[in-house]
Order: sequence, then structure tokens, then C-alpha cells
Amino acid sequence: MEREKIEYLIKGLAVRNIDGYFFETFEEAKSKAIEMIPADASIGIGNSITLKNMRISKELGDRGNIVYDKTIAKSKEESKELKRKSLLTDWYITGTNAISLEGHLVNMDHSGNRVAAMLYGPDNVIVIIGINKITNTLDEAIYRVRNIASPQNARRAGFNPPCVDLGRCIDCRSTERVCNNLVVIEGQNNNGRIKVFIVNENDGF
Ligand code: SF4
Repeated sequence: MEREKIEYLIKGLAVRNIDGYFFETFEEAKSKAIEMIPADASIGIGNSITLKNMRISKELGDRGNIVYDKTIAKSKEESKELKRKSLLTDWYITGTNAISLEGHLVNMDHSGNRVAAMLYGPDNVIVIIGINKITNTLDEAIYRVRNIASPQNARRAGFNPPCVDLGRCIDCRSTERVCNNLVVIEGQNNNGRIKVFIVNENDGF
């Protein structure tokens, strides 16, 4: 993606009190996150293919941080407990389903734990995104979330709403529906609480 677009996005984030950072690779983004987060901080992890591929949860745990990552839970009860604990951590790391060039962060959540932590609770939130998640407008970001991210996330999570076969959203009322919380983050009250790491690679849905 052209450098001017990235700079436009980082400026768009800045006027929303969100810090933007640019990295060429996910490895560089991971190193910066590990450097930024204190070694004694507690950390919640949002469910994300990108974060899983980065293995950031394991590296932070190996370093001695307390890490609550629901994707390593062995039971539903443990998953619920990890999600609840993540809401009051010092730091939260997550991906996002889409980001507009103007700086809107757009996410669709099934149970809502990830967006809840992004909105309030942890003092610091790092959002790591590949450039494939960037859209020109807010409308395009919402379209992306509904028609690209949600069907693939449904399949990954083992649900079978209509979009899994159709490859597009029909705003279903299926019992298998994964879209319950559409959240647009427009800005932040606390300057710099959310830090968006934009990575010049493609990953995730
Ligand atoms: S509302 Fe239903 S059809 Fe649309 S993306 Fe969500 S689960 Fe799929």
C-alpha cells in the first residue's frame, strides 16, 4: 500500500486520540509490542488469526507476563473465565475486522468480549492489523466485516450460518449466527490508550 495512504490513516487516527504505528512485518510489530509492554503487566488476548500466527501470546507468557488467552482454553468454562479476566488486564492485544482510511475501527463480535475490552477496561490496547484490513470508507469497512470477515470467522469457529456457503451476508436470523455486536470505534477519551499497529503484510480475515 502506498506510503501516503498509511500516513493519511495515521493522521486520521491521531485526531481520534488513537496512536498509529507502521511496520513492514508482523515480526517487527511483535517486537515493538513486547518492548512496549512491561514485563510485569497482565495481558488479555483477543481471538485473532493474526495474533495466533504471530505467537505473541506464548512469547509474552514465556517472558513471565500473566496472559489470559481464551484460545488456549481446554473447556467452555475455562474460556469464559479467561474472557472475563481479560476485561481487567493492564494491556489488551487484539486484531480488528476492518479499519477505514479515516480511522474508524470496525468489529463484529459473537459474544462481545473482544469489543468490550477494546472499549473499556484495560488501560492500554494494541490493535495489530495487516493492510488487507484497510478500506477507503466506513461503509466499505462495515461491508467488509459483514461479507468477508464474518463468513470466514463463522467457518473457522465451526458455525454454519447461510453466509458460510453463500460467501456473503444475508443478515440471517440463524441459530448459528455469529454477528451479534457490530461496533465502530470512532475515537478515544484517553489519548493514546489505543495503539494501532499497521503492518505492510496481509493476514487474517
Ligand atoms: S448475519 Fe448471518 S449471514 Fe450475515 S455474516 Fe452474520 S452469520 Fe453470516
